Amino acid sequence: MTTIPKSRTRKLTIIAQDPSITVKGKKDKILTTEVEIPAEEIAPGPRGYRVQVVDYDSTTGTLYMPMEYTHKNGQYLDPFKRIAEKDDNRSLLEDPRFHQQNVYAIVMRTLARFEFALGRRLSWGFAGQQINVAPHAFADANAFYSDRNQALVFGYFQGKKDEEKDGEKNMVYTCLSHDVVAHETTHALVDGLRQRYTDPSSPEQAGFHEGFADVVALLSVFSLKKIVSTLLLDENESGGSANSNRFIYANKLTEGKLRESVLFRLADQMGQEMARTRGMCAKALRQSMDLQPLSDEDDLDTYAGQEKFQEPHRRGELLVAAMMTAFLKVWMTRIEKLKRGRAAGSKLDSELVAEEGADAADQLLNMAIRALDYSPPTDLQFCDYLSALITADKEVVPDDSKYGYRDEILKSFRKYGIEPPPSAESDGSWPLEDDHGLTYDRAHFESMLRDPVEVFRFIWENREQLKVHEEAYTKVISVRPCVRLGPDGFTLRETVAEYIQTMTLRAKEVELLNINVPDDMPLTQEITLYGGGALIFDEYSRLKYHIRNRILNTTRQTPRLKYLWQYGYFDDPNSSENIFARLHLYRSLNLRSHTGEEF
Ligand SMILES: [Zn+2]
Repeated sequence: MTTIPKSRTRKLTIIAQDPSITVKGKKDKILTTEVEIPAEEIAPGPRGYRVQVVDYDSTTGTLYMPMEYTHKNGQYLDPFKRIAEKDDNRSLLEDPRFHQQNVYAIVMRTLARFEFALGRRLSWGFAGQQINVAPHAFADANAFYSDRNQALVFGYFQGKKDEEKDGEKNMVYTCLSHDVVAHETTHALVDGLRQRYTDPSSPEQAGFHEGFADVVALLSVFSLKKIVSTLLLDENESGGSANSNRFIYANKLTEGKLRESVLFRLADQMGQEMARTRGMCAKALRQSMDLQPLSDEDDLDTYAGQEKFQEPHRRGELLVAAMMTAFLKVWMTRIEKLKRGRAAGSKLDSELVAEEGADAADQLLNMAIRALDYSPPTDLQFCDYLSALITADKEVVPDDSKYGYRDEILKSFRKYGIEPPPSAESDGSWPLEDDHGLTYDRAHFESMLRDPVEVFRFIWENREQLKVHEEAYTKVISVRPCVRLGPDGFTLRETVAEYIQTMTLRAKEVELLNINVPDDMPLTQEITLYGGGALIFDEYSRLKYHIRNRILNTTRQTPRLKYLWQYGYFDDPNSSENIFARLHLYRSLNLRSHTGEEF
């Protein structure tokens, strides 16, 4: 007798973005979609091997019944698939079990997306394999990742009055917003990949977590074809039969139109209900989209040099704006290929146009996630991340001539004042390591692929060639073998190791190292300097890239100290505690002051 192999994936119904996005022409039909996620043996909750939904509401003291799946022919059934297909599927909003499924599926999808891009298993930003997820954690317009509680928590709140329903107020559940769930999950994953990115450093490192979480959230939503095609078919173009509405005039598909009809529309939709929610893309996203690309004649320092962009969230918006501009450019390149050979004034099938958009978003998402591996582990700046994006892609897709992703990324970042660092190659990538002077004689090939002690030995033996400061405290914090898959089935095997260096000194000792401390800082002030590097080894354990921040890099440490002193980081020894809750709180305060709204 043969046994049927268990399927590796399963499909679950989710709300495509949030309940405010409905199917064109059917205002009671929330746009839903099915997502494919890794299959697993699942306990009531759902509780799986990485994600545990625990539905306890601390405001009302309610423990909701957990979602329990039934089997048929060895497959779990999705009880919400049929309900989602109805013309009025708003009953999904009232079923806490659907909320549990929605949040479980999106966290799993985001995790799987990272694992695919990086070509290995990932850890959360805490010890332990399972993250707790609370879909109705409290009655408040907030959602955040808490590393201390090993949890993602989602609040709910009373929304605006619905004029069409006699002023009835809708309850807004943050666990039903795709972007919010993907954004919070991204914090938990980045915290596992780059634990020092929450250290006080510069406005760019502080803004990176937020900006990057928004980039992943947006590209995850745009990689769903259904969302892109729904947004494309703008309400203004209604009229005629459903079928004729599927076609769009080719000459209407310009970059400016797409920015307006797709990016701005999504940002506005998100804004409708989520404007009150902190830590969400909502207004911040809208603000990012409003940041106009600079032309070559403008001073390219314009954004980063402004006082308001010293605030971490506003700085993070530059990253979002640069990435989404690149997305539009690549999408346009792909649309131009569809237009080719067609008469002027002809129409294109919106489904095909949407598919090109979803594919572009998906590929950019791969690049964005892979770039984390090629980023220095401490004191990240956007210029480093830009070179990391280019290098990550160049390694897996040597020939970029088809759609020109790397070229568009470089151009888009430049329009927001972000250029590769001086040490980068002319194409923006990191320089390959010249490993001639390095000694591998005493290193064990096999253990270099997984053993931090072995990698540390390699660093120590080669500390001179690698320019690793020998008096700083040095620690290898991770060694991660990975297999990355390119779009054409090309596989790349690498091992990524990270080491960090720390030195705690008095201000007067720092001065002796040619790093300037702020004038009004007492000379007895204790200062911790950070440095470190990512080492990328090829499949034969030869060093390919050494992406580092030298601990005694005076051009970076001097402004870092100035920034931290100016903004009071030295006053608060607990400044890195509960960082994600605070990040979101700051964001909300910032938004309030910018929008002048009252809550
Ligand atoms: Zn956030």
